[in-house]
Amino acid sequence: MSTIRVHDKEFVAYITSAEIAEQVARIAIEINRNYKGKNPVFIAILNGAFIFAADLFKQINVEAEISFIKLASYKGVKSTGKVITAIGLDVDLHGRDVIILEDIVDTGKTLFQFLPQLEHTNPASLKIASLLFKPESMIHLIKIDYLGFTIPNKFVVGYGLDYDGLGRNLKEIYQLI
Ligand code: 5GP
Repeated sequence: MSTIRVHDKEFVAYITSAEIAEQVARIAIEINRNYKGKNPVFIAILNGAFIFAADLFKQINVEAEISFIKLASYKGVKSTGKVITAIGLDVDLHGRDVIILEDIVDTGKTLFQFLPQLEHTNPASLKIASLLFKPESMIHLIKIDYLGFTIPNKFVVGYGLDYDGLGRNLKEIYQLI
C-alpha cells in the first residue's frame, strides 16, 4: 500500500483519483438535472474546497456562477463563543438558488454557525454539496444534499485538504495511519 509523509505524520492512500472523479461526475449530473432552466450560484468555501469546486464546476452545464469565500472565526462580544463571518462574498444571494461547496463536514459546527447567515440573505433555495462527510464526529445535524463519500473519523489529506498547510496538491485522498 502506498504511504506518504506529510510533516511528521504518515498517511496511507485511501480514495483514488478515479474514485473521486467518479463521485464528482455523479454529483455534477445530479445538479445539472435538478437545476435545469435555473441559474444557480455556487459558493465554494476556501481553502479546502478549491479543487473539488473546480472539478465540479467544469462539469456544470446549466448557466451558473461561482464565488469563493473564506470563513473567519472570531470571538464575538457575547459569551456565545465563536462567530463565523464570510470574507469575499461578492454576490447578492437574495432570490438565488445557492449551492455551498465544502471539502468536508466533520462536526458540522462550521456550517451550523454559517448557514443561518446565508439564510438571512433570503436565497430562493440553499443546498450543500460536500466531497466528504464524517458522520461519527457530527455534533450538529447538517443535511448534505450532494455527497461524495462517507468516511470514518480519521484525519485525511489531499485533493484540496491539508495537514498544517501541506498535502493539498495530492491527487488522491490519504488517511492518517
Ligand atoms: P466542522 O466544522 O464540520 O467540524 O469542520 C469542517 C472543517 O474542518 C473542514 O472544512 C476542514 O477544513 C476541517 N477538517 C475536518 N476534518 C478534516 C480532515 O480529516 N482533514 C482535513 N484536512 N481537514 C479537516
